[in-house]
Amino acid sequence: MYPQSLIFRTHPSSRYSVAALIGSLEADQRLADIQIEAPIEIAIDVIEESIKNGPTIIAHSVMSTQWRRVYREVQQARKRFGNDVVIIGGGAHATIRPKELLKNGFDYVVIGEGERIFPELVWSLMNGYDPLNIEGVVGKDSDHFPLPKELPIVNLDDYPPFALGMNIVGPVEVTRGCPFQCKFCCTPVLTGCKVRHRSVESITKWLKLAVEKSGFTRTWFLSPNALSYGGIGRKPEPEKLERLLRETSKVEGLEEIYFGSFPSEVRPEFVTKPILDLLRGYVANATLQIGLQSSSDKVLKLANRHHTVEQGIEAVRIALDTGFTPHVDMIFGLPGETIDDLHKNVELCYTLVEMGAKTHGHVFMPLPGSAYENMPPSKLDAESRRLLGELSRKKDLTGSWSTQEKLAQDLSNMDKLDE
Ligand code: SF4
Repeated sequence: MYPQSLIFRTHPSSRYSVAALIGSLEADQRLADIQIEAPIEIAIDVIEESIKNGPTIIAHSVMSTQWRRVYREVQQARKRFGNDVVIIGGGAHATIRPKELLKNGFDYVVIGEGERIFPELVWSLMNGYDPLNIEGVVGKDSDHFPLPKELPIVNLDDYPPFALGMNIVGPVEVTRGCPFQCKFCCTPVLTGCKVRHRSVESITKWLKLAVEKSGFTRTWFLSPNALSYGGIGRKPEPEKLERLLRETSKVEGLEEIYFGSFPSEVRPEFVTKPILDLLRGYVANATLQIGLQSSSDKVLKLANRHHTVEQGIEAVRIALDTGFTPHVDMIFGLPGETIDDLHKNVELCYTLVEMGAKTHGHVFMPLPGSAYENMPPSKLDAESRRLLGELSRKKDLTGSWSTQEKLAQDLSNMDKLDE
């Protein structure tokens, strides 16, 4: 008996990718009869119920910051349900460390973009075929572990942005891939340097359906660099951006579009008055997320950011002039940052707040797949922690900077841990 049901363990940190991946199952006619559940809590009782009707597929989307929790849950499920469950994994961490997932109890791992491979894998398991024949799926018997760049890239228009059937919705990912190769980021390795956009036609089609079926009145667009929509990612394409905003604004019933605010971001050198005036004319967000990252040109250069501190501050000024509240992303403890640089980073946060901006703080984490993967994790000194804590209390600083310090340590120790 082959599995006919799937439990996709959903977690707040992976909910957007779960929405898109379940959407890709809903779009595959061959999978019309599969039973899908997407519990947000630990799913032991849900699994118990499901395996009464036969073996069950359990799917996890694994992010590097979540590995400890996921491995613990997988090991618990395996211990309790043995081979009544087929455990599959995908996502950022799975793509970079597939062998580690297999060692920790997963049966199969999807490498790279899931929309194409995930439905194939599920169909294959439901019909008793060998999943290892699918390009991009690996298991314990695999002898080749492909890199994401060796696999075909996904055309976003071929898949839904979310799962309307199950009403699991999230943002519309309008752009994937990034030509910049910031050393602290794993996006270029995971999704490639070639920028791809979901077409305006596809976006409006799905938004119309979302209004009709799920009562959407608002939506938000997801992009590694919102102002790059429509182009190759190196400079803004205002006409293409305007067409996206103009056409989607016409969707009847849709009252608000959010773009350029968290979790999307804009690169500072893309910010000009005309393009922000354009954006302001369409979007509902009061905030604009600007990736400045450091107060040191030396640190930015080392990290391969390709913009300066002054460009970041200028972007903040323009955002304020055009009616946005800038939310400025800063990373503390990037490689090459001295204690003096760190203090200047914190000082800059205060300056930005005085200008009228808010700050969004991160502590540098050596993310698997990033060029800085093997760099030491950041540690804040007591004075910086105190000053940042003060900003947080006044609500001028958001972000998980305080828990990221521990996560960063955890990531840099994970090779040494034998869980
Ligand atoms: S941080 Fe942003 S601009 Fe830099 S590589 Fe990642 S997605 Fe691209």
